[in-house]
Amino acid sequence: IKEESRNDFQLFKHSLKKGFKERLRLETELHKAIKEDNFELHFQPQYDLQSNEITGFEALCRWNHEEMGYIPPDRFIPLAEKTGLILEIGDWVIYEACRQNKLWQNEGLEKVKVSVNLSAKQFLQRNLVERVSEILEETGLESKYLELEITESIAMSNERYIIDTLKEFRELGVQVALDDFGTGYSSLKYLSQFPLSKIKIDRTFIQNQNKQNIAIVKTIIHLSHALNLKVIAEGVENEKDLTFLVNERCDEVQGFYFSKPLPANEVLGFVNV
Ligand code: C2E
Ligand code: CA
Ligand code: CA
Ligand code: CA
Repeated sequence: IKEESRNDFQLFKHSLKKGFKERLRLETELHKAIKEDNFELHFQPQYDLQSNEITGFEALCRWNHEEMGYIPPDRFIPLAEKTGLILEIGDWVIYEACRQNKLWQNEGLEKVKVSVNLSAKQFLQRNLVERVSEILEETGLESKYLELEITESIAMSNERYIIDTLKEFRELGVQVALDDFGTGYSSLKYLSQFPLSKIKIDRTFIQNQNKQNIAIVKTIIHLSHALNLKVIAEGVENEKDLTFLVNERCDEVQGFYFSKPLPANEVLGFVNV
């Protein structure tokens, strides 16, 4: 028994070391990727359920690695957040999303929003609003065609600061949506106090439609409407999901049922421009 547990410990140490090495390697590669501009945005359409029209595209970051191919954000965003590199990557994401949206408009795409995910660290950057306003100016995109998606993880900052920042965005004309709603803390308080424009129901509630989740989705939709907020559901994968959301008067939907996130050069073809 003693021998065995020692082996287990060796194995544990070994895997720890391996995990650590891998992270170091990934971090080095991430630095390189920033320098060499190896990120790409893909865009997933969002639909209004009353008009059946596209209202916007969510910009989702991919790391295009020369050997490993596309690395999904779940594999590098957490590391980027831990190391602070998210500030540089995130700045690029906002700029690129605005630039791309303006380009589409110039090429004849009916004007729609582009939604950009912000990590908490980014949101808490002191000059964020100023920087966003600068990006809008540089790219020529009108502020109403940019939406920012934040999550409840911003709660680590003080409430006054969050509210002030959200107000500044509202004055600038940039909309802010609360993403992954229902998965974090003190959600109800946020809904009533923060000047937001939209709530995004987390896809876990859509994808596992048990009795509890159905009740939660209904409640989120009714509550949002009572507070004058729009609701979008993500992770809509089939007709059944869609019918349920239509019946519950959800405002907007997004998911594989309509389209996976598309590379920028496929967007105009997708909407037949
Ligand atoms: P998220 O903001 O919740 O984005 C939605 C995720 O769900 C995307 O994964 C999207 O591809 C996926 N998705 C869309 N429709 C469906 C569906 O019908 N079924 C399923 N199963 N999944 C669907 P993705 O692109 O891998 O992004 C994962 C997460 O990484 C995002 O979750 C977001 O939190 C983060 N992320 C992505 N891009 C950025 C970025 O530029 N900045 C920051 N800070 N985070 C980002
Ligand atoms: Ca999002
Ligand atoms: Ca989400
Ligand atoms: Ca998320």
